[in-house]
Amino acid sequence: MTSKKIQNFTIKFFQNLKASLERGGDILIVKDVPSDFEKFSRRSSPYFLVFDEKKMTGKTELIAKGSSLLKSMTDYVSDSGSATILRIKFEADAGNVFKGHLNFIDCRVDSSIKKQKNNFFSRFTIQSTFQYLNKRDQIINVIHVHNGKIVDGDLSNYPVVEGKKEDVPLEELRAEYELVKKQTKELLHEKIEEIKVILDKDLKKGTKRIKKHFDAQRNEALVSMKQDMIKIKSLAIEMTRRSGLEYDKIKRKIQRLKENIERVKKNNKADRILREEEFAITDEKHKHSLNIDNKLINTTVIYYPRFIFETKIKNNKCTAKAIFEYNPLINRLNPIVCNNCNKKTKHITLCSNGHIICPKCNNPCGDCGENYCKKCLSHECSFCTKKMCKDCKLACFKCKKVFCQNHLNSDNLSENLGCNKCLKMCPQCNTYSDKDFFKKNNANQTVCQKCVTKSNIKNLTDQIFHN
Ligand SMILES: [Zn+2]
Ligand SMILES: [Zn+2]
Ligand SMILES: [Zn+2]
Ligand SMILES: [Zn+2]
Ligand SMILES: [Zn+2]
Ligand SMILES: [Zn+2]
Repeated sequence: MTSKKIQNFTIKFFQNLKASLERGGDILIVKDVPSDFEKFSRRSSPYFLVFDEKKMTGKTELIAKGSSLLKSMTDYVSDSGSATILRIKFEADAGNVFKGHLNFIDCRVDSSIKKQKNNFFSRFTIQSTFQYLNKRDQIINVIHVHNGKIVDGDLSNYPVVEGKKEDVPLEELRAEYELVKKQTKELLHEKIEEIKVILDKDLKKGTKRIKKHFDAQRNEALVSMKQDMIKIKSLAIEMTRRSGLEYDKIKRKIQRLKENIERVKKNNKADRILREEEFAITDEKHKHSLNIDNKLINTTVIYYPRFIFETKIKNNKCTAKAIFEYNPLINRLNPIVCNNCNKKTKHITLCSNGHIICPKCNNPCGDCGENYCKKCLSHECSFCTKKMCKDCKLACFKCKKVFCQNHLNSDNLSENLGCNKCLKMCPQCNTYSDKDFFKKNNANQTVCQKCVTKSNIKNLTDQIFHN
């Protein structure tokens, strides 16, 4: 690596670890290095790093080829087990959270217990190395996973501190990694296609060159055979004019040429050359293959708390329990659902039976005037149809129908409450009683049982005194 490359690698490395980086002139100051790396390198931060020997001062450390910290960094990166656990710092208290999200009408928060659960983000850093021809390209992909899904994430603006290993659900992490592998393939697709085009082009060139070479070989053999045959022809003509030693010499010459042709023929056997050619092409193809090596160089788990407020809400009539869940990362309080209409609401009121409801669903009882939800105001006077709570509903002792207190009267004998249809007002005493027991008195007036009895007694005493 060149000095510039080493510098870039170092910066990227510590950024990935979420350490804090500062520039002090030519010095790169690295602070808050996760203890995982500190332990690995056996060096505690801060580090004061320079990349040029000439820039070294007392406490600075040179990061260059062969330096021990650089070796620790490269070892740490190649160790696929490298993992960073970070926690985003969030604080929340019920009072402030509720203030921004809820409106309590005629009720207030009595108490709230805060609990917390963790939400996880994972960040996988994958280094893909492409090897082809004599080239070596490297790509680093950073993939975020949240709730089992790939997300676009950047958590760099949140205040993070080192997290705890025991807070991390490893099983989920493994499942997420499978997802990440798939995603990496997709992310590399374009680059792979790009390289394939280059390789294809180059392979075509190479194959063409090979074909040309073997065509030339085939051609060369043909040409030499042709030349030999021409020579044989002219020698055969010459031979007819010669005799004795001369004749034998030419004959031997012809023999040699014939042997030569045979040898070339043998060497030039088409299938042998074809085999060699095929072999050369296969080899060329092999040289044009693409090798991809994916390496998980870092897993960072980032988690943050989700607050659960177990809350008691009170008014002067009752208390209700509610659970509010708050996600500080997106500043979201889980919507409160009206107990009555099931619609989300920011405005909270209480039914006197302790139901949490929206103001629309909150109505006073027609009799006592206390506030209730619609479900709790389910009783209706059979006469005037006004809605009542279960404490206010009354029933006629005779017909058993429900009435409000205005539409029931007390029976003058039994004191039971009865409705206008079941009780009747007596014209003599002006009180109500069961209309079935009305009778005619001596004056031929229809009166209540009480009055009939009274008049009978009166008649009896009148008779006694009269006699
Ligand atoms: Zn409602
Ligand atoms: Zn009532
Ligand atoms: Zn209710
Ligand atoms: Zn009524
Ligand atoms: Zn009645
Ligand atoms: Zn009467």
